Amino acid sequence: MTEPQTPSVPPLKVAIIPVTPLQQNCTLVWCTKTMRGAFIDAGGDLALLRQAIAKTGVTIEKLLVTHGHIDHCGSTGIFARELGVPIEGPEEADRFWIARLNDDGRKYGIDGEVFEPTRWLHDGDTVTIGDCVLDVVHCPGHTPGHVVFFHAPSRFAIVGDVLFQGSIGRTDFPLGNHQQLLDSITQKLWPLGNDVTFVPGHGPVSTFGQERQTNSYVSDYILS
Ligand SMILES: [Zn+2]
Repeated sequence: MTEPQTPSVPPLKVAIIPVTPLQQNCTLVWCTKTMRGAFIDAGGDLALLRQAIAKTGVTIEKLLVTHGHIDHCGSTGIFARELGVPIEGPEEADRFWIARLNDDGRKYGIDGEVFEPTRWLHDGDTVTIGDCVLDVVHCPGHTPGHVVFFHAPSRFAIVGDVLFQGSIGRTDFPLGNHQQLLDSITQKLWPLGNDVTFVPGHGPVSTFGQERQTNSYVSDYILS
């Protein structure tokens, strides 16, 4: 007797939607079992995000935020009110960035509105999306309250503006710190594993292993 073959469905699915004039990678992440999901970094262009909801049929249960920059969370408060869902993240050290969202929105042509997260996050916290549990990793340097979301079973992370394919986040903003960013990458992200695929805040996806080999700022060779 042979077992019937069941197609393997990944527990998490992801759709990347670049938003705002800065082409920030807003990511829709959903649990395939429950079809419940969350947007991470709903910075703007809410019409595009509504289209993604309609196309996928996902029920949005929360909005997650990596850090307080206008392109990442300018419209998060507006969208949370519209959807009637909570906001989780970033870490509270980014409060001063969130306080600037109305002003920065005018400057960058993004619908920006100050909000108060339902839940500030801390290093070592977990957040849920449907039945999936993601780890919260505090990675300061680009901003002091920047967090990364990691789903260990899928070997998948969303890292905001900490790390990009071939580059790293800017540290010339208030409370930015270059050495702190390097430490976040090498001491918080690399230990998660070379096989981890990540969505950065801008540009194409990559893996930690690829960046350790080729990144001009944080490859093992450059840092050795
Ligand atoms: Zn940023």
